[in-house]
Amino acid sequence: MAFTTPAGAAAGPPLCDNHACAHCGAPATLTCAACKDAPAFEDKIETKWYCNADCQKADWPGHKSICKKLNARKRLSRAAEIAQSLWYIFREETNDYSIVGISFKNGVYYLQEADGGIVDRWNKGYRYPFPNQLMPDESMKRAILTHMLCTDALGYMHTTIAGLLEGLYAEISEIRFDVMSECRSRRLKSVNIHGQADEKEYSHHILQVKLKSGEIYVMDLTGAQYGFDDALVPWAEYVWKMRALVDVNTFGYLRKVIHEPLGKRDLEDLLRRYYVEMDRGFEAALAEALILAGGLSLSKLVTLPEPAFREKRSQILMHVQARLRLAAELMDKITVKRLAATHNINLLACFK
Ligand SMILES: [Zn+2]
Ligand SMILES: [Zn+2]
Repeated sequence: MAFTTPAGAAAGPPLCDNHACAHCGAPATLTCAACKDAPAFEDKIETKWYCNADCQKADWPGHKSICKKLNARKRLSRAAEIAQSLWYIFREETNDYSIVGISFKNGVYYLQEADGGIVDRWNKGYRYPFPNQLMPDESMKRAILTHMLCTDALGYMHTTIAGLLEGLYAEISEIRFDVMSECRSRRLKSVNIHGQADEKEYSHHILQVKLKSGEIYVMDLTGAQYGFDDALVPWAEYVWKMRALVDVNTFGYLRKVIHEPLGKRDLEDLLRRYYVEMDRGFEAALAEALILAGGLSLSKLVTLPEPAFREKRSQILMHVQARLRLAAELMDKITVKRLAATHNINLLACFK
């Protein structure tokens, strides 16, 4: 039990006096910090106001169960938002999607690729600078940072998500859906260098998180490609949108898929190893950011009071972005060649 004191209310008279103490009815300026700012979905949330700590304590037996439920929801929503922001950073800094133009026709955004092939990439460094200059707005940028990347996001963010959700959930599964066409508010298609659009329909991976309170949510880091920008959505609402569930796997399944070498010593294997190295760079950058933020753990970060949470969150995101950018630049110069040599991959054969 802790208080949030509205800004300005601690010193001098209260800024507004239209709140009544939930226990004694007197004018109140303090709120319960644990459940304040929890997202309201279909339920209506009433913030609890108190006139002093004694009244909060006296009200606790009645407030405890809803408070715990809302607090868990708040932590989960913060965790989902941070994991999604980290994915956007990871993807932007390690971008290998060579988009040179965006056009819109019959409700579809066509993303023109200018891939000169791996030889080009190998000579210049594997990555492409993210084409910020082509983005009409932030929402399109998020869509492209997530386009066909749902397995990657859950695979590479796995350790981070597990850290953020530590002690919070009763059960997590990785679930694959077929996204119903009519549910999407945004459609993207890649167009290759020969002008052919990729007409395949891809399934979509998300996390289903069951909280100890019994609430069930979807954590979707890569929904922006379909126009679903929210990182956290109540399960029932999400299923209504997507409708066709394909399969269910254990938490960590996609990380294993992403990290497992294919053993083929070919281009696909090489690129997988390249991203595994990028993932290590990302995890090191995040670990460093947490140390600099005062030795925080991810699970502790999402429990901080609102102002401290906001400050640490942006400090951590900025640090990860700066460190990852440096790491990726260094890796560009050496990684592909070194990986090929270390793993005895025949680069010449890859380039055919
Ligand atoms: Zn009171
Ligand atoms: Zn509360």
